[in-house]
Amino acid sequence: MSVIISFDLGTTSCRAIAFDTNAKILAQAQQASQLSFPQADWVEQDGEEIWQQQLAVFEQLLAELKLSPDDILAIGITNQRESCLIWDKATGQALTPVISWQDKRTQAECRKIRETNKSDWIKRKTGLIPDAYFSATKLAWLLDNDESLRQRADNNQVAFGTLDSWLVWKMSQGKQHITDVSNASRTMLFNIESLEWDHELLSFFNIPKSILPSVVDSSGQLANFEYQGSQIPICGIAGDQQAALFGQACFDSGQAKNTYGTGCFLLANIGSELKFSQHNLLTTLAWRFNGETYYAFEGSVFIAGAAIEWLINKLDVIASTNEIQALITQAKPSSEVVFVPAFVGLGAPYWQSNAKAAVFGLGLDDGKAELTKACIESLALQSKDLLDAMISDLGSNLTLLNIDGGAVRNKYLVQFQADILANTQVKVTTEIELTAIGAAYLAGLGCGLWQQDQLRVFNQASEKQTYTTNMTEEKRQSVLSNWRKAIDALRLWAGE
Ligand code: ADP
Repeated sequence: MSVIISFDLGTTSCRAIAFDTNAKILAQAQQASQLSFPQADWVEQDGEEIWQQQLAVFEQLLAELKLSPDDILAIGITNQRESCLIWDKATGQALTPVISWQDKRTQAECRKIRETNKSDWIKRKTGLIPDAYFSATKLAWLLDNDESLRQRADNNQVAFGTLDSWLVWKMSQGKQHITDVSNASRTMLFNIESLEWDHELLSFFNIPKSILPSVVDSSGQLANFEYQGSQIPICGIAGDQQAALFGQACFDSGQAKNTYGTGCFLLANIGSELKFSQHNLLTTLAWRFNGETYYAFEGSVFIAGAAIEWLINKLDVIASTNEIQALITQAKPSSEVVFVPAFVGLGAPYWQSNAKAAVFGLGLDDGKAELTKACIESLALQSKDLLDAMISDLGSNLTLLNIDGGAVRNKYLVQFQADILANTQVKVTTEIELTAIGAAYLAGLGCGLWQQDQLRVFNQASEKQTYTTNMTEEKRQSVLSNWRKAIDALRLWAGE
């Protein structure tokens, strides 16, 4: 048997997924990941644990499919982006926790950067808006808060990396310290025009270049996984959102996708010419291979599925996501509850890091059904704000939005998204593991198994459902107006 395997290192789980040579999923194995919250605004993971989990799910997959390493044509890696750590170059041991992309410990520094008018300077270099979300201030924090770590960094004894980098280091037994362009572009240290680490930014954040990985293409012969005496080629690497864009076969300028996972991420391919958004969207590297670089506009909603998790874990409103669909049908149609899950601030297009979550419009007869419905709707409403910004930047309507991610299992969400978008159809593939599919596509291309045209054929052949609006214009306007009022009130409250 010949397979391509994706390693999908998400925020909530580590997965290994095997694909046959027609890019069909054969089997998958997964383990839930642990997040820890040592202080308010801090979110961490354990790098060694992540590596052990990734190895365990890989071995589970091998056992299930009775695969030997020789059956694996290539591995593609996709990962939660921006999360990063530092490890020892000599021992390969993690020296710090993984500081999660959700971690906000550096938000005061980021506010200072914005207030000293450095935003434009940083945006022109990196395509990003200074925010605690990106790796640069996380890395600076790690070095600034541990003198001996700083010293070891200055002596070239430690390595820094996002999780792709960490995984490849472990897989290659310390032989490869690399990251792909899509992950590099999320660090806020990478110049997306010259495609190199930016010296001015490194000096601004006081980061020694020697600890950074080499930046490689997203597809090609990138590294080897040294596993039980075999060398398994690693032929694809991309950050999860770029991988999902690739997995949706959005290879051409103007094609877009939205992923509803822990966060929501709307990306539109803008081709190989670098452009900047006029509406507070980010410009990011989509991928690079065969000498061609593609860029994307990106709008991120920090809390999407995470708000559902909050309903489950903190409020005990529901026991699991399986209950949501039935509960929503019990909600009063007249309910006007609006839930803005800005637990860690508002992302694009508002970028208001002081904001916190809020619920508006509660009546005495509203209960958990209405709150849960409002929570699900908030994923779609936040995405609509992003899509509006994207359409203004692209200068043309998006007639089609490809969607994926764990939360699209919820049919109410998908229909509601189509309802409020009205002029944009929503297309959901039966197979929602688009992130892993994207990594598999990149790996299959990189090892020479597939050509890009074949990937379009695979994508077209996959089963899809298209949703169009079912809502009256009057209702739509009322829903959107309630949402806007809630956002305006919250922004006022945040007072940034
Ligand atoms: P990530 O890659 O960020 O770890 P996933 O794409 O796996 O996330 O999506 C996980 C999210 O999807 C969780 O936050 C979960 O709450 C949400 N989710 C999963 N199933 C459902 C469902 N049936 N209805 C609504 N949300 C769901």
